Amino acid sequence: MKSLQYQCKSRMEEQPKVYEAQCWGCAQWLVLPSYTPAFRCGWCGALSIQKPPKTARSRWKSRLIVFRDRAFVTFVLIIIASTVCGGVWVAFPVLFTSINFSFVFHSALTAILTFNTLFNFALCAHSPPGPVGKIAWGDVGFVPRGGLEGHTFCEYCKSPKPKGAHHCRTCGTCVMDMDHHCPFIGNCVGANNHRHFILFLLYTVISCFYVFGMGLYTGLKIWPSVISFNHARSARRVSIPLGLDLGTDVVARLFGSPLVVSARAVGLLYLVVSSIAICTGVGLLLYQQVSLLYSGETFLDSLVPYGKSKDREGWDNVRRVFGNRHPFWWLFPTFSVDSGIRKIHVR
Ligand SMILES: [Zn+2]
Ligand SMILES: [Zn+2]
Ligand SMILES: [Zn+2]
Repeated sequence: MKSLQYQCKSRMEEQPKVYEAQCWGCAQWLVLPSYTPAFRCGWCGALSIQKPPKTARSRWKSRLIVFRDRAFVTFVLIIIASTVCGGVWVAFPVLFTSINFSFVFHSALTAILTFNTLFNFALCAHSPPGPVGKIAWGDVGFVPRGGLEGHTFCEYCKSPKPKGAHHCRTCGTCVMDMDHHCPFIGNCVGANNHRHFILFLLYTVISCFYVFGMGLYTGLKIWPSVISFNHARSARRVSIPLGLDLGTDVVARLFGSPLVVSARAVGLLYLVVSSIAICTGVGLLLYQQVSLLYSGETFLDSLVPYGKSKDREGWDNVRRVFGNRHPFWWLFPTFSVDSGIRKIHVR
């Protein structure tokens, strides 16, 4: 029987009353002492839980969520592109007037940070977050004893759902060790891409902190030029030292201010404000992710109100996601997760 809706038959002629229910995992009929909405099969270990029938999401709502995710992913890519290109355009001509060691160092650092941010973003956005794999079920002939221990039945996928897996209605699939569905990557965060998600957050924080520092330093370099340019402008000796003039004569007439700004100065202001805002927001998310990982919990686990267990805390939980290599190597781009414990369940 391939449905969680198990049957209960009461034997009215017998006393006391007993119930029979069919296990969805191995299809055996089990005798229960009383009616219960949840039971565990003594043979295969599958859990049968009677729940109210779930209604499928309407088509227009599904399309709206897909559109929302794509809009968020596009927004993230625009922010990355504008920060990298804007930062290079604003800071490099001001700070590096010739090709020297400092220019090469900062160029290489910018390339490394950009590559790692985009690499981890692409992997966590486009890799399967935690495929469950094929699991034998439905007949006692090919389900071994304890073969479905702790498995429940996913009514959406119509297949077994291992312990720790959750069904994501947006992705339309069950995800092993599902942490949450993230609209900014348009994908779930699970066993297969948790490492890339955390590295994406980490490189975003480092990159934004770097942009903020370079922006402030560039601002200190630009500021004397802005002051002297305004003085020159006031004295009607016009020159444009810092890029495209934004037609600030109009601004001056409107607001009666002698301040003259260039496009590069506006770009600099945008970079400094946006980078520190992103750094703070993503930094808080990174802290939450790492602390949950250290605690051996996913974000979904943390929503269950039974309290944290200190017994499960430790670096072993972090190694399950990042692998058993030295932590130095965790930061390097890699496609595979050589984790030993959070393996995808494949049968
Ligand atoms: Zn069973
Ligand atoms: Zn499912
Ligand atoms: Zn999802």
